[in-house]
Amino acid sequence: MHVSDAPLGAAITQGGQSICSDPAVSARSFAARYVGATVVAVGAHPDDLELGAGGTLAALSAAGVQVVMAICSVPADYDTRVSEAKDSAAILGCELRILMAGGCKRIEDVKNHQLVGLLDGLVREYKPLAVLTHGPTDFHHDHVQIYHGMVATQRLACFDFYSFLPTMCRPVPVPFQPRAYIDVSHTIDTKLRAIAAHKSQFYARGLTFEFYRDIARVNGRMVGVEYAEGLDINKLVFA
Ligand SMILES: [Zn+2]
Repeated sequence: MHVSDAPLGAAITQGGQSICSDPAVSARSFAARYVGATVVAVGAHPDDLELGAGGTLAALSAAGVQVVMAICSVPADYDTRVSEAKDSAAILGCELRILMAGGCKRIEDVKNHQLVGLLDGLVREYKPLAVLTHGPTDFHHDHVQIYHGMVATQRLACFDFYSFLPTMCRPVPVPFQPRAYIDVSHTIDTKLRAIAAHKSQFYARGLTFEFYRDIARVNGRMVGVEYAEGLDINKLVFA
């Protein structure tokens, strides 16, 4: 079945073989680039990473990549949000770090050089081969600050540097054009389970996050797979 003929939700195959089980395709997967290394994902708040790149993080972890989910601040309900974040990280198979640990804080509670210092520490400790974080077009100022902080950390080490789409509980139109698409057909449900682990955020407030499945479906259609997450590329380093 050709990709364009595939009914919605059907496994996409070429020559009768599933694209995802084709070893030649797997070998050039996003995750294959980072096997044996560490990828660090940095989010301003709990749940940002799941919304922005949960499927990608789960795919990396499933491939054997060490994935660290770093959350910069927990603005409210500290114990609950940390507990939810731990559950979510376990679902995605990732290690969790809270940078401003010990109590509720906002990004703006620290000076910019202190924030960069925290992010520097992360890069020094984990020596990531890739970093995923917010992008500069996000409408949430905290998110943009984390992006700029991670831009600064590039002076310490060379790593691939990606931005995920703007993350939000209620959809707001903001510009974001992916330049890399990660097949998350096998991890989209894991992503949604990880988002659902943030019980205090979505259903409890009458909010839905199913539109993240819709976004992944549209991105998947762009590249001929069932579901994909889009990343913008800030920097790629080749040997
Ligand atoms: Zn956030």
